[in-house]
Amino acid sequence: MTAELGIPTVPPQRTIDLGNGIAFSKAGHHFTIPEGADLDALAQTLTAPLSVILQVTKRCELDCDFCSETLQKPDASLAQFDTIRRNLDGVGRVFLSGGEPMQRRDLGDIVDLFHRDFIVTVPTNAIRAELHAKNLVGKVASCNVGLEGPRAITSRVRGDYDKIMNGIRHLQDTGIPIDLSCVVYRSTQSAIPYLMQIADMLGAGKVKLIMPLRKGNALNLKEHEFLSNTEARELFDRVGGLRTDMGWTPALRLTAWTDETEGHMIVIEPDGKAQAWPVYDQPDLFLELGNVLTEPVSTIWERYPYKHNHLRKYLGKSIWTAANAGDSTHA
Ligand code: SF4
Repeated sequence: MTAELGIPTVPPQRTIDLGNGIAFSKAGHHFTIPEGADLDALAQTLTAPLSVILQVTKRCELDCDFCSETLQKPDASLAQFDTIRRNLDGVGRVFLSGGEPMQRRDLGDIVDLFHRDFIVTVPTNAIRAELHAKNLVGKVASCNVGLEGPRAITSRVRGDYDKIMNGIRHLQDTGIPIDLSCVVYRSTQSAIPYLMQIADMLGAGKVKLIMPLRKGNALNLKEHEFLSNTEARELFDRVGGLRTDMGWTPALRLTAWTDETEGHMIVIEPDGKAQAWPVYDQPDLFLELGNVLTEPVSTIWERYPYKHNHLRKYLGKSIWTAANAGDSTHA
C-alpha cells in the first residue's frame, strides 16, 4: 500500500545498538563492531559481558556421546531467575541453555522474564519444541538446534534424528529462526557436507561446528576421535570450499580449543554460580567467578581474567568463519 502511494517503506531494523560501537545483527544472530576497534580498550570500558550462558536446568532427555554436563543441580525458581535477571543488567545476550531448556515446562515464563532486557537465544535439542514454540516466537532471536548430520549419524551420537527434525519443523512453522550446532569428531566428520545440505534446505542462518571438550561423556570417546586443530582447520577449509561450490547459504563457523578461546564463555549454573569456561587447567574445566544470585555481573566482570578472549570470540575474531558478502558471521 505504501509503495503504491509512492511512500518509501521503512526497512525492518536489522541491528540492535548495544553502545560502545557494538551492534547485534538480527539477520546473522551475531555481534558486530567497526573494523579496527581496540578490543583491549573496549574490555576496560565495558562493565558487563557481551553474552552469558544461563543454564535454566541441568536436566535433559538425551545422553549424547559428547555431552560435557556432569553435575546435577536442582532447578532455580522463577523468583530466583528474576533476581538473576536484575543482576545481569548490562549484558547484551543471554543464552537460555541447559541441560535441555525445553525440559522446563515454564520456559515461556523464563523467556518472558528475560526477553525485554536482553537478546535471548535458546540452544536446544528441539525434541519438545511443539510444547514451547508458541511461547518463544517473537521473543527469542533464534533457537540453536544440535544436529550432527543425517539420520544415521545424529541418531548414533545424539539421539532420535526424526524427533529432532520434527521439533525443527515446529520451530520453523511457528516462525522462529534457527541455527544448527554440531559437535564434530573423527567418525562423524564425513557427515558435515550432508549437514550443510540439510541446513541449506531448512534455511538455517548458520552452522556452528564445535570440537568436543574432554569432560563428561566425551571422556569415554576414544582418543583418536579427537581431531587436532590442524585437522579441524583442514575440515573447515574443505567444507567452506564445498559451501562456495554448492551455493549453500548458511554461514559456517568453527570453534576450536586454543589459547585464544580459553575461558571465553561465562556459564551460569541454576544455583547462580558463574564460571569461566573452558579453562584448560581447571578441574571440570570451570574457573569459579562468583554468583549472580548474590552479586551483580559487573562485579564478576571485574574479576574475569578472560575479557580479551571473550570479546575476540563474540566479535568473531578468534573463530573461523565463512559467510556471504555482507553477512559476516560471528559468535
Ligand atoms: S549435549 Fe545437550 S542434548 Fe545432548 S545430552 Fe547433553 S544437554 Fe542433552
